[in-house]
Amino acid sequence: MATAEVTIHRGEFSNEPLTDFSRPENRSAMQAALKKVAGELGREYPLLIGGEKITTEDKLRSINPSRPDQVVGIFSKASAELAKRAVEEADRAFVTWKKVPVEQRAAILFRTAELIRKYKFEMSSWLCYETGKTWPEADADVAELIDFCEFYPREALRLAGPQPVTPIKGEKNQLVYIPLGVGAVIPPWNFAAAIMGGMTSAALVTSNTVVLKPSSDSPTIAWKFVELLLEAGLPRNVLQFCPGSGSAMGDTVVLHPKTRFVAFTGSKEVGLRIGELAAKPQPGQVWIKRTVLEMGGKDAIVVDEEADVDAAVEGVAVSAFGYQGQKCSACSRAIVAEKIYDQFLEKLTERVKKIKVGPADDPANYMGPVINKGSMESILHYIEIGKKEGRLLTGGKPAEVPGAKGYYLEPTVIADVKPNSKIEQEEIFGPVLAVIKAKDFDQALEIANDTEFGLTGAVYSRNPKKLRRAAEEFHVGNLYFNRKCTGALVGGHPFGGFNMSGTDSKAGGRDYLLLFTQAKSVSEKVTN
Ligand code: NAP
Repeated sequence: MATAEVTIHRGEFSNEPLTDFSRPENRSAMQAALKKVAGELGREYPLLIGGEKITTEDKLRSINPSRPDQVVGIFSKASAELAKRAVEEADRAFVTWKKVPVEQRAAILFRTAELIRKYKFEMSSWLCYETGKTWPEADADVAELIDFCEFYPREALRLAGPQPVTPIKGEKNQLVYIPLGVGAVIPPWNFAAAIMGGMTSAALVTSNTVVLKPSSDSPTIAWKFVELLLEAGLPRNVLQFCPGSGSAMGDTVVLHPKTRFVAFTGSKEVGLRIGELAAKPQPGQVWIKRTVLEMGGKDAIVVDEEADVDAAVEGVAVSAFGYQGQKCSACSRAIVAEKIYDQFLEKLTERVKKIKVGPADDPANYMGPVINKGSMESILHYIEIGKKEGRLLTGGKPAEVPGAKGYYLEPTVIADVKPNSKIEQEEIFGPVLAVIKAKDFDQALEIANDTEFGLTGAVYSRNPKKLRRAAEEFHVGNLYFNRKCTGALVGGHPFGGFNMSGTDSKAGGRDYLLLFTQAKSVSEKVTN
């Protein structure tokens, strides 16, 4: 492997600070990076399999949702045959990579974090163009990627240390964590840097080899991350970069008998399919495949009658419309106590009407476009259903953005939505908020828990007894009090949901790496 200098950071982990774009020097750095990256749009990128760059005839075009006529990157697409080869190359690379000491693996990740910091504004610019993230949203995504590259190596070093086992007389016992093997890493587009790089770095730092199949909507940012990993010293054959259509080559990777585990984040439908396919042993397969499946949400904020209504309005607005409502943690249901319902709606409508929509690279806009045409159509379809299921307060149609032809939608609020209606149950994944009236706190909690999901939630209340009750009864993986339900931080808010939101893992938490390892107990008889 490459022998760059090995630096081990053993200090406490702390989160990467977010960029303050009110500072002129940061604004000009971002403008300069956007300009530089704009000059690099439309380039072609290869696959990386077994350390070899491969180009194919069949191409995938990643486009800018703010200006769909702008191509961000053109990618060679992996066929099923190449996907099979990628798993086999990863299996071959595992033989040597699994023997690389943890200090070296950790050092590669720490160096990657340093490189991402160096190119932070450029990475954010790629996200602006490729995934329609505004400056602060793109910056937060990149900061989270840096956090994963700092947090997981610390965790890998910790796990490599002595593990507590009960002493037994006459024996020397130890427990060691060893890697699993080849992992298929299948991320979504909505945290195209953080989730893609988080799952990848967790797999790599624990000594697994990886087939990375980026989302077809965001392959460029994944390639940029792969380039930085290689620059940081990752051996070229350890990670296979394999863009391609999930439906066309995804099954090949998941089903392959040499695939040992799948780390997936995305929709419930695809996650369940992967779980089902992975569960069926294939000829020649000698293990039960591990699946880490992080899926959708239908997240709620409960606004109690004892809440600070202004704070709740702000928290709901940013949770519902930050990144156009396309966060798995986004608030798509506000459940509001009867007593303050009308006051809340009035203030919320006023607040939401102030949201400016337009190209993501223009910092004047709070909301950019939704990810693609299909997504826009699906969200508009839900809005039409919502207009029948409730009362449209604001929004409800494509946003008119002078001079821009992107996938823009108005932030939409639909009130008087009844529990169990379609827009109260199904994940819309766009800027659509359903507001539901609850007669009291009991009913509010009941409604909050009435979906098949259990990802994030929040409660606004000044009553500590109610908060304590919610802590016990609101069944979500990430629960927040008197603050927004988005913006989980690595280390501080280990992230992942219950029920149909996933396999109950916690990304950015202290037990996450265990999902990428298996424990081996070694016991030696000793005479004294
Ligand atoms: P998606 O459509 O399920 O796609 C996710 C990934 O799966 C993409 O890379 C996709 O590739 C791939 N894929 C599609 N079909 C496949 C198949 N048959 N086999 C293998 N891979 C396949 O989800 P998305 O639209 O990208 O992301 C949005 C969803 O992610 C939402 O439901 C959101 O709630 C969820 N999410 C959850 C979390 C969490 O932590 N729980 C975090 C973020 C997002 P293609 O792009 O090529 O189709």
